Amino acid sequence: MAVSGGLLRLETPGHGAIVDITEGVSRVLATSDVEHGVATVFVTGSTAAITTMEHEPGGVVDLQALLERLIPVAADYEHNRRNHDTNAYAHLRAALIGPSESVPIVAGRLVLGTWQQLVLLDFDDRPRQRTVTVTIVS
Ligand code: ZN
Repeated sequence: MAVSGGLLRLETPGHGAIVDITEGVSRVLATSDVEHGVATVFVTGSTAAITTMEHEPGGVVDLQALLERLIPVAADYEHNRRNHDTNAYAHLRAALIGPSESVPIVAGRLVLGTWQQLVLLDFDDRPRQRTVTVTIVS
């Protein structure tokens, strides 16, 4: 078993921004000689998440609207009350979606669909610098 990888560093505006990181992950993969294996993509932080979706403007708005229906920004949260904080919704959305994805690598490429992009979701209520760790196992 061999392990390689790299980091992506991104600035986001927060507030539910959904950023396509497929190209960045593919660039990390290209620095390895891996033909078959798996890439795990993990974001550090409790107010951000990683998933896959069709990253187009309508899909982005629809996912943001769904999350607002499920976990509204303006609601009564214990995290905010106990910690004098404002971003409980961001922690909950991040926990729901999760911080990572694993993508198979076949013939040196990520096995993603044509309309399937890897995305970073930043739910915090302010701009953030994010680090995404790409680990390639073969
Ligand atoms: Zn918080």
